[in-house]
Amino acid sequence: MTDKHPFHVIEGTKPPDTPKQRSLDKVKRTAKPASMIQCHRCGGRELIETKTGVMLKNGKPTGGTKQLLCACCFMKGERVVLR
Ligand SMILES: [Zn+2]
Repeated sequence: MTDKHPFHVIEGTKPPDTPKQRSLDKVKRTAKPASMIQCHRCGGRELIETKTGVMLKNGKPTGGTKQLLCACCFMKGERVVLR
């Protein structure tokens, strides 16, 4: 390692504090709007939550990977992962 630092931190200028900039900042802070999960195959909105790889720890099931499956497709014997 050398003592030389090829990169320097510079002070960037802030964007102007205008009403437009304030509303832009507000938009950036707000979360994305909620959207309903829908099956891309049948259009159904009923889901089944499954867990794969759950470990039994001190008598309690812990961990595992959650997945959302379409309930309608699952009844027809198809496993459609939605999330
Ligand atoms: Zn489906």
